[in-house]
Amino acid sequence: MAGPARFVVQLHDATTLHFDLRLEVDGVLRSWAVPKGLSLDPRDRRLAVPVPDHELAHGDFEGVLPDAPRGSGAVIVWDHGLFRPLGDGPVAAALDAGHAAVRLDGIKLAGGWALTRVATGADPRWIVVKMRDEHADPGRDIVAERPESVVSGRTIAELATRRGP
Ligand code: MN
Repeated sequence: MAGPARFVVQLHDATTLHFDLRLEVDGVLRSWAVPKGLSLDPRDRRLAVPVPDHELAHGDFEGVLPDAPRGSGAVIVWDHGLFRPLGDGPVAAALDAGHAAVRLDGIKLAGGWALTRVATGADPRWIVVKMRDEHADPGRDIVAERPESVVSGRTIAELATRRGP
């Protein structure tokens, strides 16, 4: 069984404000842009658009990215910690097959989430759904409740040094 690997959720003020979910897999950060962020409610199906792998070091990045076409380019580390694949086999194979369940052990997020590919081709899409476990909590909106960085305590607005149009 594979040991724990890192996960990070960054909040990124780019063309649109979105979260980036990143999982350490085989030495890179497999990444999805999640517009609404992860939910604690197992009834919520959150869109997750796959984006290119990032280097592991990017998972520690908090600051303002240069050359943002819109938005401030600000990034905060919204949550981070370790994750383990749930189920058999390596998470890389599960992701390649289009369905992976992972258990997150972060500061804000804990418990199982399922990632499922729902569209391939030119407009690939996944959904990410909270699994029904002891950490599911439909009554809480963790995104609204905890907007701040787990590293610095700052919000993305406090971090941004300039504003896009
Ligand atoms: Mn992003």
